[in-house]
Amino acid sequence: MIHIPGGKSGTTKNAAVFLDRDGVINENRDNYVLDEGDITIIDGSAKAIERMIEFGYQIIIVTNQQCVGKGIIKREKAKDINHEVIRRLGLLQPITATYFCPHLATDLCECRKPNPGMILTAAQQYEIDLCKSFFIGDADTDVKAARNAGVKPILVLTGRGKQSLSLIDRTQAEQLIIENDLAAAANFILEQ
Ligand SMILES: [Zn+2]
Repeated sequence: MIHIPGGKSGTTKNAAVFLDRDGVINENRDNYVLDEGDITIIDGSAKAIERMIEFGYQIIIVTNQQCVGKGIIKREKAKDINHEVIRRLGLLQPITATYFCPHLATDLCECRKPNPGMILTAAQQYEIDLCKSFFIGDADTDVKAARNAGVKPILVLTGRGKQSLSLIDRTQAEQLIIENDLAAAANFILEQ
């Protein structure tokens, strides 16, 4: 996995909000976000992230980028796109870090969601208390990764959220929080 420090020091044992990127912060694309021009920030994302940082949450972006493994874009381009997403948010305080998995599903790596590798690595690297942390995603694989890591999942209905609902294990559905978008998910977290 690729680790991109976000400029914030993560020295205090803290709660985090893990965020999927495409479909949560910025709009999803059918054929991946392959260029800075493909980035459309979803309304309310910047304010939501800003508020969670102010509250004291570490913000960690955790994204599968199989387009790198497929050779559609280079790792450097994937990093550039990530930087551009963050730049467009125009946050007053930095996020903690971004992790992305560049591998193919067939690589069977530890980091590709639904595996918890990126979350667990971030937890070690930034001393995060996973029991107090949340994961906001739009895919069943986000919910599974959160559950595999022991983080509370929140499914948002932006991106692939609505289609993902039917793919999520309903026997555990009582533990699943569903919110319209990142702004609503942040409201939920900040009301806890
Ligand atoms: Zn991986």
